[in-house]
Amino acid sequence: MESTVVVLGGGVGGMITANLLRKNLPEPYTITLIDREEHHVFAPSLPWLVTGERQAGNISRSLNSLKQKGIEFIQGEIEHVDAQRRTVIVDGRSITGDYLVLSLGAALVPEEIPGLAAGYSFYDLAQAERLRQKLAEFQGGSLVLLTASPLYKCPAAPYEMAMLLDSYFQKRGIRSRVRMSFYAAEPAPMAVAGVNVSESVVQFLRQREISYYPQHQIIRVNPDKKTIDFTNGVQESYDLLIHVPTHKPPKVIQESGLIGENGWVTVNQYSLETAIPKVYAIGDVTGIPLEMGKPLPKAGVFAHGQAKVVANNIILQLTGKGRRAEFDGHGECFIEIGKHKAGFARGNFYASPRPVVKVYPPGIRWHFGKVFFEKNWFRTWF
Ligand SMILES: Cc1cc2nc3c(=O)[nH]c(=O)nc-3n(C[C@H](O)[C@H](O)[C@H](O)COP(=O)(O)OP(=O)(O)OC[C@H]3O[C@@H](n4cnc5c(N)ncnc54)[C@H](O)[C@@H]3O)c2cc1C
Repeated sequence: MESTVVVLGGGVGGMITANLLRKNLPEPYTITLIDREEHHVFAPSLPWLVTGERQAGNISRSLNSLKQKGIEFIQGEIEHVDAQRRTVIVDGRSITGDYLVLSLGAALVPEEIPGLAAGYSFYDLAQAERLRQKLAEFQGGSLVLLTASPLYKCPAAPYEMAMLLDSYFQKRGIRSRVRMSFYAAEPAPMAVAGVNVSESVVQFLRQREISYYPQHQIIRVNPDKKTIDFTNGVQESYDLLIHVPTHKPPKVIQESGLIGENGWVTVNQYSLETAIPKVYAIGDVTGIPLEMGKPLPKAGVFAHGQAKVVANNIILQLTGKGRRAEFDGHGECFIEIGKHKAGFARGNFYASPRPVVKVYPPGIRWHFGKVFFEKNWFRTWF
């Protein structure tokens, strides 16, 4: 099978790229979108699903509905990517594009840490639903939330989850029976966004009596004894363990020859082109080093901005219409702090010598800003 543009991954980056291409390219051009999942899930709402404020149907849509717009959606497993030939194998079938856009995200690999998979997570829909059920039975004890490595998508999400859980336990009247601890592999919360952001988040945790232990790298979990060991010799016991698992590029991308020194796909940070002509990579699968020494965070807001740039430049090449666009590193983030309040930060992550991020005081309006964003997401793209 042949297609003008083959987009790999129906998550944030891929789904937006396919939509924008279809909207702006006339019919003779074909857009093919491939994902193993039938549903696109709006991940920023997963913490709300855990605390019972959303159901799966509220935060996901079938990618099959994109067929009505003229996007060819194929649900299947991408088994091989031949970037030089711009050809992929999907469930044994070969598909070649004039252009290839890779947006396959980060794979979650809890099995990298012995025993960790026995804990609970909220980083995909199935895990979040499993955690919600577990929480309903939980009547108190030691709750440990941890990040298994310093690099994970949405650096705000585990902190947000901790604060939403604090509110959730208060609402159930059992907060005094839950000892909450947060063990972070990273040195500080959302450190790329700067000291102001990190200090605000640490303060929020302190106000909620959530003990915070940064720079604790987990080595193993003993699910029988319910203990966790860290590389610095610390051992913690738990009744309920919630983790953010280690992230890796999907296997098919690891084998594609596109991985650079930092372990993720190397791209031009402005155009998102890989070293191979007409092959682009966007979103979490990429590794974009910032001048400050840390990588661009893995977040939907960046996958979204990069999708716009890539779609624009492919449309320009095919039709001659428009002007060349560049990704400028701007991004923003809500952080729910519980009780229908949220904080907000916005900034330029490509600023030199380090990102410039403005932090807005938390309030009800940012919470409703996120609710509006969620509703608008499905109206805009589905
Ligand atoms: C709990 C949580 C909260 C978050 N909150 C926010 C937030 O508030 N703001 C924000 O900006 N970001 C947030 N994020 C991060 C955001 O969801 C990701 O950064 C974003 O989805 C990345 O987009 P992507 O297109 O790169 O990858 P993804 O959206 O992960 O999409 C990748 C797709 O590729 C598919 N795929 C992978 N391998 C294969 C294969 N071999 N065959 C077929 N299909 C395959 C997957 O099924 C998936 O659909 C959050 C993430 C989580 C988990």
